[in-house]
Amino acid sequence: MLTEILKKQQLSRSDIVRLLQADKEEARELFEFSRKIRFENFGNAVYYRGIIEFSNICRKNCLYCGIRRDIKSVERFDLPDNVIIDTALRAFDQGLVSLVLQSGERTDKAFVRRIERLIRKIKQLTAGKMGITLSLGEQDYDVYKTWFEAGAHRYLLRIEVSDPELYKKLHPNDKLHDYYTRLNCLYALKDIGYQVGTGVMIGLPFQTLENLANDLLFMRDFDIDMVGMGPYIEHSETPLYEYSHLLRPLSERLFLTMKMLAILRILMPDINIAATTALQAIDPMGREKALSFACNVVMPNITPDHRKDYFLYEGKPCVEDGEDACIECLNKRLEMYGLKARLGQWGDSPHYFSRRKTAIQTTG
Ligand code: SAH
Ligand code: SF4
Repeated sequence: MLTEILKKQQLSRSDIVRLLQADKEEARELFEFSRKIRFENFGNAVYYRGIIEFSNICRKNCLYCGIRRDIKSVERFDLPDNVIIDTALRAFDQGLVSLVLQSGERTDKAFVRRIERLIRKIKQLTAGKMGITLSLGEQDYDVYKTWFEAGAHRYLLRIEVSDPELYKKLHPNDKLHDYYTRLNCLYALKDIGYQVGTGVMIGLPFQTLENLANDLLFMRDFDIDMVGMGPYIEHSETPLYEYSHLLRPLSERLFLTMKMLAILRILMPDINIAATTALQAIDPMGREKALSFACNVVMPNITPDHRKDYFLYEGKPCVEDGEDACIECLNKRLEMYGLKARLGQWGDSPHYFSRRKTAIQTTG
């Protein structure tokens, strides 16, 4: 029974490992416990973010990623500004008032200026009412600041794994792929005033349950506002594929992810937690299940055209669907789980406001 552990005020690392070891029967108790916390904090609300994966051009070479620089078979694309803006406006009209712009990592001046222009334009065309989240990788402090001042208010940058040694095994060993640079980016984003999101991949080769417990503690100790974490899904054209024999079966990676989400909800009751697309890639109802007991955010993919070229991993769902069809079916599927989409609302992380208030109280 997990009851004794769940009753504790503070979960230790070994408590978390024990929860991650839960079998199907025990996990029911864990999920029920986190479900209560999820409903106490957010009721039946689910917030949508329309995500546009506007370019797969990337300067980096993460060993797990299907759009890493060295993969030559990927057709590289970069959606024109007018297509991005039109897509954003169409989403806005449908009630998707929170937008995520994601792409491979680029740091050249032209890119930085272009993103600033895009943010300003989308803000202007929606009278400031479109919430803009960025997920554009590691950038300089000033770049993050410029984009914040242009109107972006949230940033997603997964730490991927919180253990520097494991990080080294999953990335080329060079200056472009440095754990501490990535960590410093998270500090910069927080300092500038963004709502900051991070996350990890779950079920990677070489990753232990202790690693995953530490990942959760990292998120708690960093006092993060939002989390997106999902199963690692191997891609046959990446270097990490070589270690596929070390992987748990996909169904177990999914189960482990569900437990991670539940424990995170217990550790951080008022943060935004996204049910990621990778969950759906393993179980068609994976996102809805996760939303019913832990998550409160889902990010429908509204990328027009090129969806098939943004394969971070294999088996990515909905690459053929039109974006409108996705929203409609998502609304219905949520209702089956007693959940309700809050269209027209930003759904900011309540944690962001409480941590800022505490900071002001302690400094002022
Ligand atoms: N380039 C940016 C954003 C795009 S990548 C960045 O790296 O921050 C977005 C996320 O996709 C990454 O953070 C990583 O966690 C995830 N990802 C990449 N390859 C994956 C894989 N094989 N399985 C699951 N998630 C993957
Ligand atoms: Fe590029 Fe992001 Fe993929 Fe790494 S995970 S190769 S930074 S798109």
